[in-house]
Amino acid sequence: MRAQALRPALDRFRLAAAVLVMCIHTGPLSGLSPGWDFWLTRVLARTAVPFFLMVTGHFLAQSGWKNTERFLKKTAFTYLAAVALYLPLNLYNGGYGPLEWAKKLLADGTLYHLWYFPAVLLGVVIARGLSRLGAPAAFAIAGGLYLIGLGGDSYWGLVSKLPGPAAFYEAAFTLSSYTRNGLFFAPLFLLLGAAGHRWSKRASLAGAALSLAAMTGEGFLLRGLGWQRHDSMYLTLPLCMAFLFSLLLGLNGGEDRRARRLSLWVYLLHPWMIVLVRGGAKVVKQSELLVDHSLGHFSAVLVLTFAAALALDALRPLRPAPTARAWKEIDLDALRHNAKVLQARLDPGCELMAVVKADGYGHGAVRVARCLQKSGIRAFAVACAAEGIALRRAGVRGLILILGYTPPEEIPLLRRWRLTQAVADEAHGAALDAAGRPIRVHLAIDTGMRRLGVPAEDTAALARLYGMKNLKTGGVFSHLCVSDEPGQSAKEHTQGQLTRFYRAVDWLRDQGYDPGDVHIQASGGILHLPPQPCAYARAGIALYGVGSGGAADAVEAGLRPVLSLRARVACVRRLRPGEAAGYGLAFRAERDTLLAVLSIGYADGLPRALAQNGGRVLLHGRSCPMAGRMCMDQLLVDVTGAPGVRAGDTATLIGQDGALTIRAEEAARRCGTITNELLSRLGGRLGQTIG
Ligand SMILES: *Cc1c(COP(=O)(O)O)cnc(C)c1O
Repeated sequence: MRAQALRPALDRFRLAAAVLVMCIHTGPLSGLSPGWDFWLTRVLARTAVPFFLMVTGHFLAQSGWKNTERFLKKTAFTYLAAVALYLPLNLYNGGYGPLEWAKKLLADGTLYHLWYFPAVLLGVVIARGLSRLGAPAAFAIAGGLYLIGLGGDSYWGLVSKLPGPAAFYEAAFTLSSYTRNGLFFAPLFLLLGAAGHRWSKRASLAGAALSLAAMTGEGFLLRGLGWQRHDSMYLTLPLCMAFLFSLLLGLNGGEDRRARRLSLWVYLLHPWMIVLVRGGAKVVKQSELLVDHSLGHFSAVLVLTFAAALALDALRPLRPAPTARAWKEIDLDALRHNAKVLQARLDPGCELMAVVKADGYGHGAVRVARCLQKSGIRAFAVACAAEGIALRRAGVRGLILILGYTPPEEIPLLRRWRLTQAVADEAHGAALDAAGRPIRVHLAIDTGMRRLGVPAEDTAALARLYGMKNLKTGGVFSHLCVSDEPGQSAKEHTQGQLTRFYRAVDWLRDQGYDPGDVHIQASGGILHLPPQPCAYARAGIALYGVGSGGAADAVEAGLRPVLSLRARVACVRRLRPGEAAGYGLAFRAERDTLLAVLSIGYADGLPRALAQNGGRVLLHGRSCPMAGRMCMDQLLVDVTGAPGVRAGDTATLIGQDGALTIRAEEAARRCGTITNELLSRLGGRLGQTIG
């Protein structure tokens, strides 16, 4: 019962908070009652910005502060856009000198309400740093900063009489006009919001009302004493906010993205609307009602601001959510974890080269490479020039090795994007050399797979390749073809490959040719061989946390699957015994049956054979069999054993739901293939989320 009463309270309160900020700037009650106006704009409305800071801290901390950088970038962008939006007003007001601009941009904001942006940017950086010290230390420091801030704000009358502190604050004010800023004000509220999801007890309405009453008392007391230099910070404000936030968290369920967007628009736009109302009132000769009458003025600004916010929100390009139909969920934590696990199995001098061909085995090459680059990986491998270029365009640095064939006419591209080409054989090397421009290459050596590479014994060919002046050889590598197969003969073959490889490398060194960075292991080699004396190990499938064939190796090594595949339930229907469903009526109900139709099909890259080979999906934490033949865009599932399934529910085709997991290896085995094929074929129509 209680669960159904929950609403997206945090997101909706953002709208109320934005209106409170508007109150601060319009003083709706100023013409009616100075006392009530003080309470509304100097006490109650002072909860608005701390609330924004707390939701920010709350959401950043929920994901372990992992999205901090993205948040900072996005907020900085919004800030600059807002500065540009208000530039005309700035210039109209007379503008500033360069030093003044620097101070405004970095601390004060450039107009009215924009101070919030530099404050939240600096505050988030500080709060994230503090949070690493553990909660007690973090709160002690942030609380201390807040207390210092109080002195320059509501308690100015107290400290300004003390010469030492007064001098300190005067100095601080030359850098930032208020202590209500990113250093003294924001960190405490960000940390309070961040702590919110750990609070087990929820505050009551009475508690929140009492704390607000305390803050009201403090506000009026300070007003009576005439101590306030500025009135944004109260001793009781953090307490009041903790109660309010806890109360909202207790009511909160789900999200309301529209309320989020509208509240940002309202916050950003309302000062402009104040200007427009003032100007417009003059034009229509209604200044008395729309400007001089405080409530009339506030109402006009409110209506105009919401109209503008709604209109701008309606102009937003509409895109389907990635989770509208069927989607891949990528767990970047698992990816980082796997990279660490694999790296730990290598020689200290040997680095992981992340193989991200075929769109990162279906995981999104750019996302995977960016994530791994951040965690220190400096070498990547792809199948073709186009894949390498996509990585460079996305800002991937370091070595990008093209493992597959590139024709000589593409050499300008290789040079332009600093890609390193694998030389497939002597003829390929000669053709690349003949193109007449130097390029970076790694020589492929065939040690027994008989795919690409110069035969390891053909030292004459190796010597000729080293003689080609346009080939700048930075490495020599080979590929193992049975390193993950069981059995003695596979072991012997792998041993033979290794022997031939190192013999060729030694021969090159003996002849004075520099083999550069040598590498031979792929996932199978990393998991099954002892550390090798190489510069790189090329990890593909293991990086994604699964085994090619079975799951045993990946599980034993402690790897975690990175990809989950999910789809929405489109509808649920009931079949009576004997009724049949789907193409060819291939499913026949033997009892009263509930069929769910999932919005995913073979055109999404799921093998069609899976449905008839015992494929299963997870729904409501239960395992349900696929039914009949898979369609191009739909899939039938027998959900008789999972009551309560409804349209819109999420089904899991690969991944975890409750206590159950379906592994990619299992689905691949049912279709007689390997995970590499299953995952790399997952189609472009699928949405993608970061889980
Ligand atoms: C695909 C590929 C790899 C990666 O193989 P995994 O088994 O997925 O680790 C490594 N080297 C070469 C030459 C490849 O073609």
